[in-house]
Amino acid sequence: MTKSEIADFFNRIRNLKSSKELKAHEFFEQNKSKIIDEYKKHLESKIDENNIEKEKLEHEKNMFEKKVCVKCGSMMRLINGSFWGCPNFRDVDNGVKHSTYSANKDEYYSMYENKVEYLYGLKIKTTWASDIIKSVEGKGIITPLLLVRLLEDEGYRDMREYSNRSSSKHALSGWVTANENSKISEKEVLEYFKSVFDTCVYQVGIKYNFANDREKIGFIDLIASDELDVFIIEVKNNSCDVKENQLENYHKAIKHVMNKSKDKRNVYSIHVVYGFMGNDKNDNIISFDKINTIKEINKLKIILGKPAYKKRNRTFSILNQSVSIADFEF
Ligand SMILES: [Zn+2]
Repeated sequence: MTKSEIADFFNRIRNLKSSKELKAHEFFEQNKSKIIDEYKKHLESKIDENNIEKEKLEHEKNMFEKKVCVKCGSMMRLINGSFWGCPNFRDVDNGVKHSTYSANKDEYYSMYENKVEYLYGLKIKTTWASDIIKSVEGKGIITPLLLVRLLEDEGYRDMREYSNRSSSKHALSGWVTANENSKISEKEVLEYFKSVFDTCVYQVGIKYNFANDREKIGFIDLIASDELDVFIIEVKNNSCDVKENQLENYHKAIKHVMNKSKDKRNVYSIHVVYGFMGNDKNDNIISFDKINTIKEINKLKIILGKPAYKKRNRTFSILNQSVSIADFEF
């Protein structure tokens, strides 16, 4: 591939991602009034359900106070001084049991208070957004998370906020949120490296393939370099997200590209973990917390160079002669 063909190739991949997003936004705009109607209908039906439950609870409380069975309306009897029972308790049809009440008033009222508190929030499922998407035939076009966001822009709250439970954005497709968090952390790490190294390039598109393997496409988070050393950096939010093979592959691919252009600089590869660091013995991982106050490049290079990429006793696949890299100078 020529340089411009390679650039086109990586741009096409980027555009594919954004054209999908564009379609989702377009879909929302075109179906906005239908979507908002569905939203209102959904919310109203939940409010109705909730009101019915509240009335039922209120009725049960009245029955308790009058000592009347909710099912058959009979007067209850105090049994052994410990609970109130219905004289018709043996007569169970439709599976509905006759009432029993605790003889302890406080116990009953605390149970009642718990139920009232529970009914304070609506019973909204985490799937409310995908239910709306289904009803407007937008499945596969718009994601629930985006729908929640766009509705919020229109002034409609995340429906889960009406319940006592966690918000949809939290519960919806965990990977989306994780992905967004990692974008923020990537940016912060990039800013830091930019302040220390002369040359930083990020999201470097790379296409490579190993013998006996299919072609792989990746984007290297960050390459920081100077006239002596090149650091390939993958930024992770969590040390559990580290994919060791991926970094190995990038390392070999970059080395290959450099050898071809007779670039003799040292190459190091490292994962920088922004968030949670597990108890990881891996040599190629460093916590962002450990480096982010270092302003001096040589100090930083010593730390980054130490846990540098080490070849372990694994059989490595052999890189084919075909590595394409997006047009970046590093
Ligand atoms: Zn009864």
